[in-house]
Amino acid sequence: MEKQHLHKLVESIFTVHADENEIDCEGCGCQIDHLAELVAGGANLRELLPAVEAHLRCCTDCREEFEALVAIIRSQNTESPLA
Ligand SMILES: [Zn+2]
Repeated sequence: MEKQHLHKLVESIFTVHADENEIDCEGCGCQIDHLAELVAGGANLRELLPAVEAHLRCCTDCREEFEALVAIIRSQNTESPLA
């Protein structure tokens, strides 16, 4: 009986989590390289992946990593006349 109850509880937690469409740092990190390239190329992250954008807004670690990547890609794409 108690095991069944626990199972239902776990099930409901994961269902709620999926419905909220949230991602954690791990899920964010998997996509951050690809996303940084798209955003550096002018894509709108909020339209593209609102869940990632929401995570970056509230997670300083991921946001800093993401912004650093975008800056690197942009500087690589911009050919310096002095190079
Ligand atoms: Zn994060």
